[in-house]
Amino acid sequence: MGARTGEEFLDGLRKTSREIWVDGERIDDVTSHPKLAGGAATLASIFDRQHQYADECLYTHPDTGEATNVSHMIPRSHEDLWKRHAGLTRLSEGSMGIMGRTPDYMNMKYSGFASAPDVWAGPDGRNAKGAENLLAFQRYLGQADISLTHTIINPTVDKRTDGTLVGNNVPVHKVGETADGIIVRGAKVLATLAPYADEQTVYPALPIPPEASAYALAFAVPLDTPGLKFLCRDSAAAPGANLFDRPISARFDEQDAFCIFDDVLIPWDRVFIDGDVEIYNNIRATGFIVHMTAQSTTRALTKLEFAYGLATRMAEIIGDYTPSTLEMLGELACYVRMTRNAVELAVEQGAERADGVWFPNGAALDPMRAMLAIWMPRVNEIITLIGGHNLLTTPTRGQLDDPELRPLIDEMLHGADDVSADERAAVFRMAWDFVGSSLAGRGFLYERFYLTSAARNKQMMQMGVFDQTRSRALLADMLARSRAL
Ligand SMILES: Cc1cc2nc3c(=O)[nH]c(=O)nc-3n(C[C@H](O)[C@H](O)[C@H](O)COP(=O)(O)OP(=O)(O)OC[C@H]3O[C@@H](n4cnc5c(N)ncnc54)[C@H](O)[C@@H]3O)c2cc1C
Repeated sequence: MGARTGEEFLDGLRKTSREIWVDGERIDDVTSHPKLAGGAATLASIFDRQHQYADECLYTHPDTGEATNVSHMIPRSHEDLWKRHAGLTRLSEGSMGIMGRTPDYMNMKYSGFASAPDVWAGPDGRNAKGAENLLAFQRYLGQADISLTHTIINPTVDKRTDGTLVGNNVPVHKVGETADGIIVRGAKVLATLAPYADEQTVYPALPIPPEASAYALAFAVPLDTPGLKFLCRDSAAAPGANLFDRPISARFDEQDAFCIFDDVLIPWDRVFIDGDVEIYNNIRATGFIVHMTAQSTTRALTKLEFAYGLATRMAEIIGDYTPSTLEMLGELACYVRMTRNAVELAVEQGAERADGVWFPNGAALDPMRAMLAIWMPRVNEIITLIGGHNLLTTPTRGQLDDPELRPLIDEMLHGADDVSADERAAVFRMAWDFVGSSLAGRGFLYERFYLTSAARNKQMMQMGVFDQTRSRALLADMLARSRAL
């Protein structure tokens, strides 16, 4: 099949009966329910977008010859890296980078996984069947162009003991097996995109202790698998709101859900790791993190560029050219430029692994995992500081369209330099939806945590990710000079 259209994506969601809960309601049709329809429509538009920008977003799959989304590509040349980068950029523009989990995010992880089947098979090939299953699933992902959600983090119960796993039966673990597959029970957080996904996957995250083999699992299952339940957070979608009034919330709520596996059967051909802790703890060796970070940083760049445009126009509309505002806008421009530098340098300095698979330069992207989690909240703060009360003096579409109110609004709520009341309201409503709405609060949490916290990422930089060679050499040189005195 290859790349789907938006309508095919929506049809797929309508066909399956899943357990998606929002508030006290189990929602059958996520494409039409007021709390979910806006997100579904935007995601559909992003499926259409891959056809609209086919030159950038699609490539010819080497096995099927079908036009396939570039995020499924296992790059085999430097040109492949550039093409994929262009496609990811186009896809991110579909939500101005505000939706973090458009399907290309997970596709990139799976193409990274599938680029290194030997890592899944294990050092002696003892998990060859799991590796074969993974490759087949990745092929299916691209050919059927399905939308995938994932949960890899264990729910918090007691932070003093959660890491030991054994005896803590809450995280997903194997409780049995049949001729058809393994039975898993427990929960995982936090399935972003769940209502809009066709399949759910679990795979290795933080390393686990050797005795926790029941928790050493990787698999994928369709969302309509019996026993699989998703408890969505409160909708931030502004149901029924006018698109002018809530331009971001009404379009870009991708949802997040607590995922329960109530004795779920995972068919054997969908099991990628079954109890092998050593293989589970080694999955980073596939190199998938670099591919994922390339996608997430490209998406973040689009969001930063959008935020910079928004903040700059806000300042112009209220004639704010004060030094403090120019400084904050300049700061935002620095975030944009540094992020662009990282993304483009990573592609420019891409390199070939021994097996012929091409990777962006991970060293250029690594710092972004920590820094974007700090910069993104600061961007919201900058927009808030520039906006002040103007973020709330924003007539709605209904007020603007009222014949009695409109002349008064035109007279008293226009902007500097003859900016119309309409544009002023549109820009500041967008800004408030970006920083102050329920979806904005969720976006703030997302940016701080979706790649784990900045604190953990900084620690990882220091604990082996960052190459210290030159710094140590410089110090050794200087110490030698001191000794020579
Ligand atoms: C909106 C949103 C969407 C998400 N979507 C998904 C998803 O689709 N799939 C998925 O699997 N997961 C998802 N997650 C979960 C995400 O991966 C986790 O939130 C993340 O890994 C951090 O884990 P935690 O929330 O348990 O916080 P913790 O890691 O426990 O962090 C809590 C606090 O403790 C601090 N801390 C923790 N450990 C250390 C340490 N070693 N040193 C210093 N400080 C530390 C952190 O800095 C932070 O301030 C999502 C999270 C959010 C908020």
